[in-house]
Amino acid sequence: MRIAIDGPSGSGKSSVAKELARRLNLSHLDTGAMYRLLGYKVYKDKLELDNIKEILKNLDIKIEGEQFYLDGEDVSNKIRENEISKYASNVSTIKEVREYMVYLQRKISEDKDVILDGRDIGTVVFPNAEIKIYLTASPEVRAKRRFLEDGTLDYEKILEDIKKRDFNDQNRKHSPLKKAEDAIEVDTDNMNFEEVINKIMEIVAEYESKSCNKSR
Ligand code: C5P
Repeated sequence: MRIAIDGPSGSGKSSVAKELARRLNLSHLDTGAMYRLLGYKVYKDKLELDNIKEILKNLDIKIEGEQFYLDGEDVSNKIRENEISKYASNVSTIKEVREYMVYLQRKISEDKDVILDGRDIGTVVFPNAEIKIYLTASPEVRAKRRFLEDGTLDYEKILEDIKKRDFNDQNRKHSPLKKAEDAIEVDTDNMNFEEVINKIMEIVAEYESKSCNKSR
């Protein structure tokens, strides 16, 4: 089974996908982290992007569950830093980068029951995924959650960043963020984490009972 979870930044996709993977005994792939790994490489080695093919050819990344390695180093925390978000967003607009990441995402998911979260999973990576969720929340609610989580950043600045990233994600030329036609939208504005998990567990149970009935 393949579950695709897409949605804007800060909608809680990765935490939700991780918890669902645990409960449903699926592998989890955080595809945003893959763009972050490349973004971090560009930042760390001060690379120019004109020779992206060469950069991708020499890219040394390893993914083990929720651990992400670059050039042999565990960078799982470093790639989450605010500065790296900008680099990740920047590299994610490049066509060759997207093609390479989609290739890797399909390869990693081969022969597995898996849940992937990102921006283009239900539209591009796995348009035939059995279950597609579009997880969303208003920019204000997402900014407030991040503000409460972090405690050091300014709310207005977070909100501005979120709006900017939404705009970039939705308006980029290649694989822009959009809800797949057959995705189920879950608006989490008035939901806590547990409620979101329960809602998606219900959707999965419904899918399973339908496909069970069909095969009878
Ligand atoms: O989800 P996260 O914020 O970690 O993603 C980092 C960056 O990677 C974002 O800017 C997003 O646009 C990009 N991304 C993407 N496609 C995906 C996952 C993430 O373009 N499937």
